[in-house]
Amino acid sequence: MLHTCCGPCTLYPLRVLREEGLEPVGFFFNPNIHPYREFRKRMGALREVAERRHLEVIWHRDYGLRNFLREVVFREEDRCEVCYYLRLRETAALARKEGYPVFSTTLLYSPFQQHELIRDIGETLARRFGLSFLYRDFREGYGEGQREAREMGIYRQPYCGCIFSEEERYDKKLRRRRRA
Ligand code: SF4
Repeated sequence: MLHTCCGPCTLYPLRVLREEGLEPVGFFFNPNIHPYREFRKRMGALREVAERRHLEVIWHRDYGLRNFLREVVFREEDRCEVCYYLRLRETAALARKEGYPVFSTTLLYSPFQQHELIRDIGETLARRFGLSFLYRDFREGYGEGQREAREMGIYRQPYCGCIFSEEERYDKKLRRRRRA
Protein backbone atom coordinates (compact mmCIF):
# COMPACT_ATOMS: atom_id res chain seq x y z
CA MET A 1 0.00 0.00 0.00
CA LEU A 2 1.49 3.26 -1.16
CA HIS A 3 0.45 6.40 0.63
CA THR A 4 0.14 8.99 -2.16
CA CYS A 5 0.40 12.68 -1.33
CA CYS A 6 -0.40 13.96 -4.84
CA GLY A 7 -0.20 13.16 -8.56
CA PRO A 8 3.25 14.53 -9.50
CA CYS A 9 4.97 12.84 -6.53
CA THR A 10 3.42 9.48 -7.43
CA LEU A 11 4.85 9.15 -10.94
CA TYR A 12 8.47 8.30 -10.19
CA PRO A 13 7.93 6.03 -7.14
CA LEU A 14 5.25 4.14 -9.07
CA ARG A 15 7.62 3.53 -11.96
CA VAL A 16 10.46 2.38 -9.69
CA LEU A 17 8.23 -0.02 -7.78
CA ARG A 18 6.83 -1.49 -10.97
CA GLU A 19 10.34 -1.96 -12.34
CA GLU A 20 11.03 -3.94 -9.17
CA GLY A 21 8.03 -6.16 -9.95
CA LEU A 22 5.74 -4.64 -7.32
CA GLU A 23 2.21 -3.42 -8.00
CA PRO A 24 1.20 -0.87 -5.37
CA VAL A 25 -2.28 0.20 -4.42
CA GLY A 26 -2.40 3.94 -3.77
CA PHE A 27 -3.99 5.44 -0.68
CA PHE A 28 -4.94 9.12 -0.73
CA PHE A 29 -5.16 10.38 2.83
CA ASN A 30 -3.96 13.96 3.24
CA PRO A 31 -5.79 16.05 5.84
CA ASN A 32 -2.86 18.49 5.62
CA ILE A 33 -3.86 19.94 2.24
CA HIS A 34 -5.56 23.33 2.46
CA PRO A 35 -7.53 25.27 1.47
CA TYR A 36 -10.43 23.27 0.10
CA ARG A 37 -9.97 24.21 -3.57
CA GLU A 38 -6.32 23.17 -3.38
CA PHE A 39 -7.35 19.86 -1.83
CA ARG A 40 -9.74 19.24 -4.74
CA LYS A 41 -7.11 20.20 -7.30
CA ARG A 42 -4.57 17.77 -5.89
CA MET A 43 -7.12 14.98 -5.81
CA GLY A 44 -7.89 15.79 -9.43
CA ALA A 45 -4.21 15.57 -10.40
CA LEU A 46 -3.83 12.22 -8.67
CA ARG A 47 -7.01 10.97 -10.35
CA GLU A 48 -5.51 11.83 -13.71
CA VAL A 49 -2.24 10.05 -12.88
CA ALA A 50 -4.18 7.03 -11.63
CA GLU A 51 -6.22 6.82 -14.84
CA ARG A 52 -3.30 7.32 -17.18
CA ARG A 53 -0.94 4.99 -15.28
CA HIS A 54 -3.62 2.42 -14.36
CA LEU A 55 -3.07 2.73 -10.64
CA GLU A 56 -5.74 1.54 -8.24
CA VAL A 57 -6.31 4.15 -5.52
CA ILE A 58 -8.24 4.01 -2.27
CA TRP A 59 -9.59 7.51 -1.64
CA HIS A 60 -10.16 9.32 1.61
CA ARG A 61 -12.11 12.25 0.19
CA ASP A 62 -12.97 14.09 3.41
CA TYR A 63 -11.38 17.48 3.78
CA GLY A 64 -9.39 17.28 7.03
CA LEU A 65 -8.77 20.92 7.91
CA ARG A 66 -10.34 20.89 11.37
CA ASN A 67 -8.84 17.64 12.59
CA PHE A 68 -5.44 18.61 11.24
CA LEU A 69 -5.47 21.97 13.01
CA ARG A 70 -6.52 20.34 16.28
CA GLU A 71 -3.50 18.04 16.03
CA VAL A 72 -0.92 20.75 15.35
CA VAL A 73 -2.19 23.66 17.40
CA PHE A 74 0.48 24.93 19.85
CA ARG A 75 3.13 22.86 18.09
CA GLU A 76 3.10 24.58 14.72
CA GLU A 77 6.91 24.54 14.51
CA ASP A 78 6.93 20.73 14.86
CA ARG A 79 3.88 20.24 12.70
CA CYS A 80 5.65 18.20 9.98
CA GLU A 81 6.38 15.35 12.35
CA VAL A 82 2.73 15.28 13.41
CA CYS A 83 1.68 15.48 9.78
CA TYR A 84 3.87 12.55 8.67
CA TYR A 85 2.72 10.51 11.62
CA LEU A 86 -0.99 11.11 10.98
CA ARG A 87 -0.75 10.15 7.34
CA LEU A 88 1.47 7.12 7.80
CA ARG A 89 -0.47 5.83 10.80
CA GLU A 90 -3.68 5.86 8.77
CA THR A 91 -1.89 4.08 5.92
CA ALA A 92 -0.44 1.42 8.20
CA ALA A 93 -3.81 0.89 9.89
CA LEU A 94 -5.56 0.44 6.56
CA ALA A 95 -2.81 -1.83 5.23
CA ARG A 96 -3.17 -4.00 8.31
CA LYS A 97 -6.97 -4.07 8.06
CA GLU A 98 -6.97 -4.91 4.35
CA GLY A 99 -4.21 -7.50 4.58
CA TYR A 100 -1.37 -5.68 2.80
CA PRO A 101 1.94 -6.72 4.37
CA VAL A 102 3.99 -3.75 3.15
CA PHE A 103 3.42 -0.01 3.05
CA SER A 104 5.35 3.02 1.89
CA THR A 105 4.83 6.64 0.91
CA THR A 106 5.47 9.04 -1.95
CA LEU A 107 6.69 11.51 0.70
CA LEU A 108 10.06 9.78 0.25
CA TYR A 109 10.23 11.35 -3.21
CA SER A 110 10.39 15.00 -2.17
CA PRO A 111 13.75 16.67 -1.41
CA PHE A 112 11.76 19.29 0.51
CA GLN A 113 10.55 16.87 3.19
CA GLN A 114 12.37 15.61 6.27
CA HIS A 115 13.37 12.35 4.69
CA GLU A 116 15.01 10.60 7.65
CA LEU A 117 12.11 11.51 9.91
CA ILE A 118 9.64 9.98 7.45
CA ARG A 119 11.71 6.82 7.36
CA ASP A 120 11.88 6.62 11.18
CA ILE A 121 8.14 7.12 11.55
CA GLY A 122 7.41 4.55 8.84
CA GLU A 123 9.66 1.96 10.48
CA THR A 124 8.25 2.63 13.96
CA LEU A 125 4.69 2.23 12.69
CA ALA A 126 5.64 -0.93 10.79
CA ARG A 127 6.82 -2.52 14.03
CA ARG A 128 3.69 -1.40 15.84
CA PHE A 129 1.31 -2.75 13.21
CA GLY A 130 3.32 -5.92 12.41
CA LEU A 131 4.03 -4.80 8.83
CA SER A 132 7.08 -3.92 6.72
CA PHE A 133 7.89 -0.38 5.71
CA LEU A 134 9.34 -0.26 2.22
CA TYR A 135 12.05 2.37 2.25
CA ARG A 136 13.50 3.79 -0.95
CA ASP A 137 15.28 7.06 -1.54
CA PHE A 138 12.99 8.21 -4.35
CA ARG A 139 14.58 11.68 -4.21
CA GLU A 140 17.13 10.60 -6.81
CA GLY A 141 14.35 10.67 -9.40
CA TYR A 142 12.93 14.03 -8.41
CA GLY A 143 13.93 15.84 -11.61
CA GLU A 144 12.73 12.97 -13.77
CA GLY A 145 9.36 12.79 -12.02
CA GLN A 146 8.82 16.52 -12.28
CA ARG A 147 9.65 16.45 -15.99
CA GLU A 148 7.16 13.66 -16.53
CA ALA A 149 4.46 15.61 -14.64
CA ARG A 150 5.15 18.70 -16.76
CA GLU A 151 4.93 16.69 -19.97
CA MET A 152 1.64 15.16 -18.87
CA GLY A 153 0.33 18.66 -18.13
CA ILE A 154 -0.95 17.74 -14.67
CA TYR A 155 -1.34 20.26 -11.88
CA ARG A 156 1.85 20.80 -9.85
CA GLN A 157 1.33 22.49 -6.51
CA PRO A 158 3.38 25.53 -5.49
CA TYR A 159 3.58 24.71 -1.75
CA CYS A 160 3.72 21.71 0.55
CA GLY A 161 0.11 21.53 1.71
CA CYS A 162 -0.98 23.11 4.98
CA ILE A 163 -2.00 26.72 5.41
CA PHE A 164 1.26 27.35 7.30
CA SER A 165 3.33 26.15 4.35
CA GLU A 166 1.27 28.31 2.02
CA GLU A 167 2.09 31.33 4.16
CA GLU A 168 5.81 30.44 4.16
CA ARG A 169 5.78 29.97 0.41
CA TYR A 170 4.62 33.51 -0.19
CA ASP A 171 6.12 35.31 2.83
CA LYS A 172 9.86 35.38 2.21
CA LYS A 173 10.75 36.71 5.67
CA LEU A 174 8.86 33.93 7.37
CA ARG A 175 10.52 31.32 5.16
CA ARG A 176 13.98 32.60 6.03
CA ARG A 177 13.14 32.59 9.74
CA ARG A 178 11.90 29.00 9.65
CA ARG A 179 14.95 27.79 7.74
CA ALA A 180 17.25 29.48 10.26
S1 SF4 B 1 4.66 21.83 5.76
FE1 SF4 B 1 3.96 20.02 4.62
S2 SF4 B 1 4.69 18.25 5.80
FE2 SF4 B 1 4.79 20.06 7.13
S3 SF4 B 1 2.84 20.08 8.22
FE3 SF4 B 1 2.57 21.36 6.42
S4 SF4 B 1 1.74 19.97 4.87
FE4 SF4 B 1 2.59 18.70 6.49
